[in-house]
Amino acid sequence: MSENFGWTIEKMAPLWASRSLPELAPGWATLQTELAGVCGTDLQMLRGYANFDGFLGHEFVARVIECDRPEWIGRRVVGEINVGCGSCADCQAGDPRFCPGRTVLGIRGLDGCFAERFRLPLTNLYQVDDLDPHQAVFAEPLAAALEAGIHLLPGREVLVLGDGRLGSLIALALREKHPVTVLGRHREKLERLKALGLSICQQTSGLWPIVVEATGSAGGRQQALRVCRPQGTVVLKSTVAESAELDINLVVVNAINLLGSRCGRFEPALQALRSGTVDPRPLIDQILDLNEFPQALQSRGFKTLLRGPAGSGGPAASR
Ligand SMILES: [Zn+2]
Ligand SMILES: [Zn+2]
Repeated sequence: MSENFGWTIEKMAPLWASRSLPELAPGWATLQTELAGVCGTDLQMLRGYANFDGFLGHEFVARVIECDRPEWIGRRVVGEINVGCGSCADCQAGDPRFCPGRTVLGIRGLDGCFAERFRLPLTNLYQVDDLDPHQAVFAEPLAAALEAGIHLLPGREVLVLGDGRLGSLIALALREKHPVTVLGRHREKLERLKALGLSICQQTSGLWPIVVEATGSAGGRQQALRVCRPQGTVVLKSTVAESAELDINLVVVNAINLLGSRCGRFEPALQALRSGTVDPRPLIDQILDLNEFPQALQSRGFKTLLRGPAGSGGPAASR
């Protein structure tokens, strides 16, 4: 057992606390956080979503510092966040994302990466020594963003609802295969997205063939159903702590395809980063030290990164 500090949730606020790292299990790696990304899910969890007790954080690029395969030591890695039971049909097929017995890094039953060190199985990891860490840290959210498009017919127009962290990344991810418009409320953010070549609007009177809901609010879901044209598709991407009434009659009357979408696979995300099809770096607003995480809660921008002990150049690196 050894001490390890990170960010937990205490009474709906972040608390810097120590939790011990247990013995390293065979096939698992200890990772030292280089950069971690703050995501809407983390903020929802602070408001009670998922009722999680442990270190927060599931978006990361890190260094392998301990494992039973010497060739992995020192490598820069990103990692899939779902850890399956290993024996159910999904796990046997190599996709633990929906394993009923899974743990999820920083979300369910597994301490996350807003910490000095954390653990994942080697089978979850991808080596990214060739990537800029400021790109690599987007692997997880970009995988989730690309997942929003996997059932959509290429070429169809897409309206992304929400100009926040998630909406902006989804817009960048989908624009290779779709004309994309972002509908948001924040002029400054919309202008930044416009500068990246995206179409923007603050309201719409039209009906859209595909609407991707990424507002992180219960109201956004109802709006998505309202602006979707009959026989169109609504993709629901954001998890929301509050529950709210949703007029499901609209789905029936307008024969809307309603798709839920959560985590994606890492291969397409890493391919998009390596080829430059998606460059999310303009979305980075600020890089804080790991121990400054509470400041990230004030951010009204797109993406806050946290620099961990393996991050170069920062004060945290000299500890
Ligand atoms: Zn996330
Ligand atoms: Zn399983």
